[in-house]
Amino acid sequence: MSSILDTYARKPISFSKGKGSYLFTENGEKYLDFVQGIATNILGHCHEHLVNTIQEQSKKLWHVSNAFIIDEQEKLAKRLTENTFADFVCFQNSGTEATEASIKIARKYFHKIGKPEKNRIITFEGAFHGRTLAALFAANNPKHTDGFGPKVDGFDQVPFADEKALRKAINKKTAAIMVETIMGEGGIKVVPDFCIKGLRELCDEHEILLILDEVQCAYRTGNFFAFEKSGVNPDIVPIAKGIGGGFPLGACLVNKKVSVGMTEGTHGSTFGGNPLAMAAGNAVLDVILEKDFFKNVETKGEYFQDGLKKIKDKYPKIIEEVRGVGLIRGLKMLVDNDEFIKKLMNNKMLAIKASENVIRLFPSLIVSNKELDEAFVKIEKVCKEMS
Ligand code: PLP
Repeated sequence: MSSILDTYARKPISFSKGKGSYLFTENGEKYLDFVQGIATNILGHCHEHLVNTIQEQSKKLWHVSNAFIIDEQEKLAKRLTENTFADFVCFQNSGTEATEASIKIARKYFHKIGKPEKNRIITFEGAFHGRTLAALFAANNPKHTDGFGPKVDGFDQVPFADEKALRKAINKKTAAIMVETIMGEGGIKVVPDFCIKGLRELCDEHEILLILDEVQCAYRTGNFFAFEKSGVNPDIVPIAKGIGGGFPLGACLVNKKVSVGMTEGTHGSTFGGNPLAMAAGNAVLDVILEKDFFKNVETKGEYFQDGLKKIKDKYPKIIEEVRGVGLIRGLKMLVDNDEFIKKLMNNKMLAIKASENVIRLFPSLIVSNKELDEAFVKIEKVCKEMS
């Protein structure tokens, strides 16, 4: 019997080794991994540059308190701000902490400018922002909140894609609207560019901050961020998962305007921004900032989408819809997603479920067309089996 608290429905398998798009069991079975730590190992398993960087950094310096200047942190923050909308970054260890920091920063901003009554945040049904109490009640998914009351106040939730309800929910106390640019756990639901523009306009009209949670989708869409094509600049963006390439790392990116509230002592973290995590974050950037990297993600994303759509067209009673952008994809299924995932696993391919009977597919960003082809063969085989 396991000594671990039983909070996961774990598959009865473990892996001892990973390389690129593949995971290997102790007895050498090879699995095509399109879970990649749930959108986390964006350079695949054990990418050489990441391995070397972490090894080198671990010989120099692992941890030093944020009471001192951390050069690797300065470097990563500079690169993140130079390449994005952000003017400042604060580093965390996870996505949950990054969304929690976003909530704090939004509230503190209005407090600082003399409008402390503006402290409520509008969120959307089906969202996922993490597992701290505030993040839980921000998303307000009964499956996650049940038994964890009393409810954390400060959030007003509206149905996804319901503009009327959104407008109605806005009042003098609204500080921010927080939404995932691509709803991940909710079923790979993309907020279209025109909606992101509309959200920005609405926020500006009512003096509200726009928080775009990119924890799951950042770096995956052929741009730094999924919102970039909309041309909109949000105020606050929490990121995590892929930005450390598998090393625990989160960050909250903010513009200059909202940074004013976050003065000395207002936030902190023992581990956030440690040199080892920073080295990993910088190593990921070394790779993804190479010329044409994002263009390749976009091209591969189209190839991935085309292949999945062909399978959907061939099996319209199995797959209802192909969702997503770039290399963050979801298949909305007409058969049970759990059953399909199980059968994929029997065919040595790993995928992960989401709400709305969706199967999420997260290849690494350096997946080859050959590996995508392999995925198509396995997915099609299971479609045939389940027909
Ligand atoms: N926000 C979003 C959009 C996520 O998808 C997740 C995790 O799945 C989180 C926040 C929480 O991130 P973490 O699990 O790293 O705490």
